[in-house]
Amino acid sequence: MTGRLDGRVIAVTGGAGGIGQGIARAIVEAGGRAGLIDLDGNRVEKAAQTLDPSGETVIGLAADVTDRASMDAALGALRDRFGRFDGLVNNAGIVRLGPATEMKPADFDAEYAVNVKGVLVAAQAAAALMAGKGGAIVNVASNAGKVGYPNMAGYNASKAAVINLTRSLSLEWAADRINVNAVCPGGVATDMLGAVADFISEKSGTDRNELFGSMVPAQLGRHIEPVEVGRVIAFLLGDAAQIIRGQAITIDGGDTPY
Ligand code: NAD
Repeated sequence: MTGRLDGRVIAVTGGAGGIGQGIARAIVEAGGRAGLIDLDGNRVEKAAQTLDPSGETVIGLAADVTDRASMDAALGALRDRFGRFDGLVNNAGIVRLGPATEMKPADFDAEYAVNVKGVLVAAQAAAALMAGKGGAIVNVASNAGKVGYPNMAGYNASKAAVINLTRSLSLEWAADRINVNAVCPGGVATDMLGAVADFISEKSGTDRNELFGSMVPAQLGRHIEPVEVGRVIAFLLGDAAQIIRGQAITIDGGDTPY
């Protein structure tokens, strides 16, 4: 069925986090199965069990996206559990907030390690399983990779890098029938957006919850839900998206005009 993921098996990194769980819900909604991958095994298994206590459609696996051996092991275990492997959502990411003048090189390195190198390493592990038979990869960048935000210099730069890494991989892996795209969400109501609200509230003295509530796309007038990001990703993982390649699709309710 066009655009559906019936039976397909997709790995979702950062799967214990807010958007990761929304992506898994959307994959299951589309008839697929998801392997959540995150650093802490107990946390990711709990997230998987919340989504599907039976373990028939969602399982949790511990791995670090910056470490190729651990990604190979997790993706291999996912394929063995469900008997096939069809795609990867590179969703793991971190943010370090603060003025650029005070930014520690170690924080910049940490953001690049997870947000950029992690995307490449996980994609390499996935491509090794999909080469020849085809598949899809969706990288979760951010609208912060298209426009700049203050106090997020390393994050902005890393997400811009993901957008261009996506273009490179899309071109290089087309011959292996691996379709690679990126998405660029705006503010989605998760712990990460909460951390941004905490930071600004501390700096400005604004009420934290009021601030969090106001961090919504102006035209939409409400927060974007993780599963809404997931549904766009599920579409990009499917056959109907074969004509969309190497793109960075903005999902921010209209805040970013490109
Ligand atoms: P989150 O903090 O809830 O989830 C991120 C997850 O990534 C966490 O569970 C964390 O443990 C995991 N992770 C971190 N380093 C890892 C590693 N080395 N290996 C495996 N897992 C690792 O954040 P979220 O809001 O769900 O963000 C998910 C993605 O969406 C990130 O890439 C983020 O940059 C991007 N994003 C978020 C927003 C937003 O407003 N929340 C907007 C645009 C883009």
